[in-house]
Amino acid sequence: MKIIDGHIHIGKWSDVFLNYESTVEEAVKVMTSSGIESAVCMTGNLNENEKLFSGINSRKDYKFHFACFINPDDEGLDDFLDKNIDNISVFKFHPSFQKRRITDDTYRKYIEMAEAHRIPVIVHCGRWKEIASYEYPLEIARRIPGLNVILAHLGGDQPSICVECAKAVSDGGYKNVFLGTESVREFYFVNEVVKIAGADKLIFGSDYNLGLPKMYIPIIESLRISAEEKELIFSGNILRVLGIG
Ligand SMILES: [Zn+2]
Repeated sequence: MKIIDGHIHIGKWSDVFLNYESTVEEAVKVMTSSGIESAVCMTGNLNENEKLFSGINSRKDYKFHFACFINPDDEGLDDFLDKNIDNISVFKFHPSFQKRRITDDTYRKYIEMAEAHRIPVIVHCGRWKEIASYEYPLEIARRIPGLNVILAHLGGDQPSICVECAKAVSDGGYKNVFLGTESVREFYFVNEVVKIAGADKLIFGSDYNLGLPKMYIPIIESLRISAEEKELIFSGNILRVLGIG
C-alpha cells in the first residue's frame, strides 16, 4: 500500500525538546526503511525554513513536500515566501509555540496568501484549548471554504478532544477540513474518529523526528475499515489535498 507521511519534522528544536536536531540524511533513511514514498516536511520550532528548503531540494533521491513554518515574528519569512512561494506545498502554523490563536491578526495575511495560492495549511491543535483549540481553525475553515485546513494531532492529541473534534467536523459538514493522525497513540479512539468523521477526512502522519512512522503505521493498519479506506488515510487524502492525487 502506498504510504505518504503527511507530517514530519527535520531540523532543530528549542529547549522544549532539549535542542534535539536531525538531518535530511537521517530522514531519508527512516522514511525509506519505513516504506514511506514521500513526506510532507517542516522544520522544528526554530523556523529554519531556508536551511530545510535547500537541504531537501538538493536530494534527488527522495521526494519531500515542503511545508513552510509560518511564524509572523520571523523577520526573514516574507522574503522567503516571496522567493519560493511556487515551491511551497503547505503552510504550517503552530499557535502554541507562538502563543496566539490561529485567528490572531498577525496570521491573517499568511492565511490569505495560502488561499490565493491554493496552499493547504496544517494547524497545530493541542490540549491548550484557550490558544490551540481545534475550534479556531474551524472558524477559519468556515470563513474560507476554498482553503484546505488540516487539524494536526486529530484536533488535540487527547481522546476526548479528538472525538469531540471529529463530531464538530462531521456536524459542520466541512468539505475543506482534514484530521492529521500524527503522534496520536490511543488507537481505539482513532477508530472512533474514523467512524464519526469518515476515512476521507484522515491523513496519516508520524510526527518524525519526534516519532517514527513504524510507531504509527500499525494504528492505521488496525482500523476496522476497508483496505480502500486505509489507502485514503495513508495516501489518497493527502495527495488530493496537495493537488497531485
Ligand atoms: Zn509536529
